[in-house]
This record gives sequence, C-alpha cells and structure tokens, in this order.
Amino acid sequence: MIQREIQKIIKDAGHIRVSASKEEKWTAEYLAEKARALGAEARVEPFEVAVTKINDAHLYADGKEVACKAYECCGSGSIEAPLCYIADFDPISLSKVKGKIVLFDGLVSTFNYHDMLDAGALGFITYDGDVKWRDNDIDLRELREYMAKGRKVLGVNINAKDAVKLVKNLPVVKIVIDQDESTGHSWNTIAEIPGTTDEWITMSCHLDSRPLAPGVWDNLTGCITLLNTLEMAAKSAPHRYGIRAVFCGSEERGLLGSKAYVKMHEAELDKIALNVNVDMIGSIMGEVVCFVNATDPAIAYLKAFSCEKAFPIKTMPMVMASDSSSFADKGIPSYSFGKLAPQSCAVIHSRYDNASIVSDKQIQEDANFISEFTLRIADAAICPVERKLSDAIKKQLDEYFYRKRKDH
Ligand SMILES: [Zn+2]
Repeated sequence: MIQREIQKIIKDAGHIRVSASKEEKWTAEYLAEKARALGAEARVEPFEVAVTKINDAHLYADGKEVACKAYECCGSGSIEAPLCYIADFDPISLSKVKGKIVLFDGLVSTFNYHDMLDAGALGFITYDGDVKWRDNDIDLRELREYMAKGRKVLGVNINAKDAVKLVKNLPVVKIVIDQDESTGHSWNTIAEIPGTTDEWITMSCHLDSRPLAPGVWDNLTGCITLLNTLEMAAKSAPHRYGIRAVFCGSEERGLLGSKAYVKMHEAELDKIALNVNVDMIGSIMGEVVCFVNATDPAIAYLKAFSCEKAFPIKTMPMVMASDSSSFADKGIPSYSFGKLAPQSCAVIHSRYDNASIVSDKQIQEDANFISEFTLRIADAAICPVERKLSDAIKKQLDEYFYRKRKDH
C-alpha cells in the first residue's frame, strides 16, 4: 500500500472508536468499503454486546470529592467503608480486605475479583494514567460479565495521581453510582479473496479503540496491514488458500468480536488452516514480535522467512491478549504480530496513541513483511504449519480464558 493511502486511512479513521459506538460502526463500514475497492467481497456482521449509560458517579474521600469514572456494568447504589490498599491478591493481603473498599494495582481479573469478594471486600477502586504525565485522564472501564458472572459490587477508576494520595492517607471512602445497563450491537467486518481450494487463512485485527485513545497504533495499523494483504492477494490471485480478513469489533472489552466470530462461524472453522493476527505495528520505535500459538516448527518457519527477508523479528510461544487467542482456542494455529516499544516513546489506551508515534514508512515496512509471509503460506501446496497447538500453549489458553488458575 502506498504511503499516501496509509496517511489517508490514519486521517479518516484515527479517531476514538469505542465498542458499540456510532464511530465503531462507521469504521467497520469504512473498512468494508476499502476492502471492496481492493477487489475483496466484504460485509459487516453485527453481534450483541452489553451497553451502559452512566448517569452519575462519585467518589468521596473523608467527604471530599475525588474525580472518578464508574465501572460500566457494576450496578448502581452507594457504599461507604474504610479504604484498603493491596499490592497483590495473596492470602495475607486478602486477609485485610473484609468490610473495606479495596484499591489495587492493574486490572480486574476473574480470579482476583472473586477472591476479593470471598474475602469480604465491599467495593473496589482501580487507577490508570501516570503520575509523570500532565493529564488527569481516567479511562472508562467495565466490569466484564464473563469475569463478574452476575456477582456485582460497585467500582470506580481514578487517576494514578489521586490513587497515590488516597493510599497515603487511607481515608473512609464513599462510592455512589447510577447507571442504566442494556444490550446493543458491535460490528465485525469480514473481507475475502477466495483461493483455488475451499480452505482459508484468516487474518484478524481489531478495529475498535479504548475510550480515550485515537487508536492509531492500537490498532489502525493492524487494519492497514490486513488491507495491505488483501491488496497484494488480489493483485497476485489466485492463491491456493483464500484470504479472509476479519476486522474485529470490541476487542478492547475482552476479544468480544473474535469470540462472536468463531461462535457464529463454528461450522466453517475446520476449513481455516491458520490465523494471522496483527495488533499494533508501525511504531517509530520498538521491535516487531510474533506470539506463536502452534508448535515449534511454526516458529522455525517464521524465523527462516525473517532471515530470507532480512527483517528482524522476535518470536515467542505465548498467548497474547488479542483476537488470535479466540482462534487458537478453537484449535487453529496462529501467529500474532505486534510491536513492542519503550513506554517512554509510545503508549496505548490513552490520548497519546495518536499519529505522532507511528510513521507511514514504518507501517508500510512492517505490513509488507506480514503480508508477504501470509501470502507465502497461501501459495503452499500443503500448509507448512500443522494444525496443532503445543501442550504448553493449550495450558496458557486455559489460564488466559480463566478456566484454570496460573500455577504459582
Ligand atoms: Zn490492540
């Protein structure tokens, strides 16, 4: 794809496009149109997601208001209790949370959340942002249904600067939330260039962004990579395997788009030989990595290709928090490409994920490598990646999808 076209896509779609919003729908349709212009057949598929309207949210510390955002889908009401900070969810830390509102680092996860409630916590506070950044932004977070499993307590998210103040003073805190919870839609875009057989290589990327993020790096760059592959595939057609690009909605809420895709297309999954996922490439700084969910020969194959192309890449047999995991969980081997950059140069899920941290030339180089790799496999007489996952990857998938706890 020429650099001017990459610039245009960033200009057109490099804006906040949150799950279930009109901007997300616009982006899904925009990508379908772009894919059609490149010669692919494309359609937009809606799927149901929870939607929330927050009417009111307050956090008070010893009676003084602290800026906060309510967790979506955590219910409505009011609670008041002493604050307790825990840095981990070990039994000793959990022994201190009974009757408290608990502030902790990081994200809510299934096991931590239920352990905290079992230990008697009444509510929770998380934080994001950075004490060194000038903004006081607060991300809008959600108590995901697949984590809460119907067990809700009130929670708010605050800025890191306020979190430090709260933990220093350990006040009595009060949370007040009023929200309406209902069901709405999010969208996947599916674009195909058929092959000479009825087998497919799916490519996946997410098209949505976090509420504060223009999402240029995460993950408009992945969308551009899929369009780039469709363009190359159409020009060099026919290939043995068809290329099916799945641009997923609502990834940022826990891979909801790819989960919906594999559910809605369950009967077709045995015709998918491989998944190639792209989540964040093209940053000016950093190194391209690939998380491989397959067997060891799949890693060796990618390494050999990177030598041939003189394109440095770090490979890791690891499950990634990205749409590839939904495909791998159905037994489909997957390569998930991304780029890791120092946090001092490029960050995601915030206002700083904008056009300034990527370059069109770098996007083009990274995307071309991934597209050429995918099309090399699309031309193979027999898929060089066997349709198998290692036991270590299967174990990681069980942990990632909260079917099993991680060993300590
Ligand atoms: Zn992402």
